[in-house]
Amino acid sequence: MRLRALLLLLVLLLAAPFQAAQAEPARLALGGSALTPAPAGWWQRVFGPEALQLQLALDRPVPWRAFLVGDPARLVVDLQGVDLTGQDPAQLFGHDMAPAIRWGSFRRGWSRLVIELPGPYRVARAGLRTQGPEARLRVALEPVAPDDFSPRPSAAAALRNLPEPAQMPEAPPRAPGLTVTLDPGHGGFDPGAQAGTDTEAALVLTFALELRRALEARGVTVAMTRDSDVYVRLEDRMTAARASGSHLLMSLHADALPQGQAAGATVYVWNPASDDRAAAQLALRHQRDDLLAGMNLRGQDDALAMALMDFARMDTQPRSEAFARLLTSRMALRGIGLHGRPVQGAAFSVLKSPDIPSVLLELGFISDQTDLANLTDPEWRARMVEAVAEATTGWWRDEQARAGLLRH
Ligand SMILES: [Zn+2]
Repeated sequence: MRLRALLLLLVLLLAAPFQAAQAEPARLALGGSALTPAPAGWWQRVFGPEALQLQLALDRPVPWRAFLVGDPARLVVDLQGVDLTGQDPAQLFGHDMAPAIRWGSFRRGWSRLVIELPGPYRVARAGLRTQGPEARLRVALEPVAPDDFSPRPSAAAALRNLPEPAQMPEAPPRAPGLTVTLDPGHGGFDPGAQAGTDTEAALVLTFALELRRALEARGVTVAMTRDSDVYVRLEDRMTAARASGSHLLMSLHADALPQGQAAGATVYVWNPASDDRAAAQLALRHQRDDLLAGMNLRGQDDALAMALMDFARMDTQPRSEAFARLLTSRMALRGIGLHGRPVQGAAFSVLKSPDIPSVLLELGFISDQTDLANLTDPEWRARMVEAVAEATTGWWRDEQARAGLLRH
């Protein structure tokens, strides 16, 4: 009798902490969670809508479900018994891959994540895997044609009770520790493209000075390849970025192309194999300016130097591409008109740095009436400055998170 009572007591004592642990809500480990491009060829990453992968790290397995809703296309992930209080979606690594992410408690005991998608997708795979006491939920998304997008039929029901957007801090996010080189193209004897009395050199300098103020307000250290109307050789622009210890080089242009060939903001990343005709024309234009300045182009890099540069670029290139994507997604959110293919590859010399992520941003094309009107409109420039500054701080946050992952 006493033995039985003792055993019962023992069972109760053992069970109590176990039950208490189960009653505690599960936690999302933001550090191990991410929204990332699914592995794909670089051409897909540069040119196509990309496959995405959402990974959520949880401190224990929980019941879950994932489905799509439409208008706009969104991925909904419901998790039972997970407490997301105090977790900021903006801290999710790669949150900038999606136009918007919200989460919060949904029904009693359930939390809901809503990820706005950059286009129509399908859920290719979804599964929860346990690793020791922890669990990883992976949802793989593949882009589909608009006609093949099949959101959940009861979309209206799924839309009810969406969590309110998480409270965002009022002050713009800051990016201390980041040094950026802004490179307004052309200058001095080289006005760049021209339209009437407007020159590309003057327009991009105005924009660069406005962007510098916005970045400095966010705690970013800004170096400029020029802050007045002077000519700077292409090589010297890269050297300036390296000398200032910059983490990022942003070259700013507003070139001209024959009528109808180009309109809207375009971001270029390094791609020596690009066979795009417009990009080749622009590359020639930029280099001809240097030839005119009496500068010999270093066309004959030897094989070893090239191999070393390619090796360094394996690390730099995806980071340049990540920044390019952030730029275009932020511009789209701010209502900036984008080129039909907003991220492109080109063999621009100024993008050649193997060790500094670099992009060339065509703010617009001076040869296009709308683009020219935008470039000379302070209100439009203010929106563009905001978009670029947001992309820059977002990119730096991702860089910090990436560096943190590499250290551990
Ligand atoms: Zn230019």
